[in-house]
Amino acid sequence: MSGNEVYDLIIVGGGPAGLTAGIYAMRAALKTLLIEKGFPGGQVAVTKEVENYPGFIKIGGLDLGDKFLQHAKWYQLEIVEQEAIATEPGIGYHAVRFSDGTILKAQAIILATGGTARKLNIPGENENFGMGVSYCATWAIFGKSMPTRLSSPRRMGAPRP
Ligand SMILES: Cc1cc2nc3c(=O)[nH]c(=O)nc-3n(C[C@H](O)[C@H](O)[C@H](O)COP(=O)(O)OP(=O)(O)OC[C@H]3O[C@@H](n4cnc5c(N)ncnc54)[C@H](O)[C@@H]3O)c2cc1C
Repeated sequence: MSGNEVYDLIIVGGGPAGLTAGIYAMRAALKTLLIEKGFPGGQVAVTKEVENYPGFIKIGGLDLGDKFLQHAKWYQLEIVEQEAIATEPGIGYHAVRFSDGTILKAQAIILATGGTARKLNIPGENENFGMGVSYCATWAIFGKSMPTRLSSPRRMGAPRP
């Protein structure tokens, strides 16, 4: 990575969306850089178990995230572990800025920065994460990881017991 290079594509965010974009871009022979501020894999990497990903009946989130990463690496996707603090659209090229002043240029930028769960900050929330406390809407609907008190699945729209 050097500030003088112009990439075809810069992807900000190394979750499932960013890594998928990276795989497609490398297959299309685009000169691509992926920027990830934390651990590649995104929110999936902090998920205890994933049970809805085709091809895997049950897989640990960290393992699935690592499979995404290894797939992208197999295509030799360049990955930089830093936080992008700004993107600046331009006419000739667009720019991504880092806190140390570095600026990288690209013909196109994909923002795949995902999201983070908004915590309730209540007692027991952190200790019980993944063991009843979930931030995943589909799990909550199907009652897979609900606290015992709310553990029976219910049809959407049905009245609460
Ligand atoms: C606890 C939990 C359990 C879940 N369980 C399931 C499940 O079982 N099945 C399922 O299908 N989905 C599940 N999900 C949802 C799934 O994880 C998300 O839908 C998916 O990760 C979204 O992918 P993404 O790439 O869009 O974003 P994210 O996974 O959020 O990835 C975004 C990435 O961008 C990086 N980033 C953000 N800003 C910057 C920046 N400025 N510079 C550099 N990098 C940046 C972040 O560090 C992150 O790695 C779960 C989510 C959570 C939180």
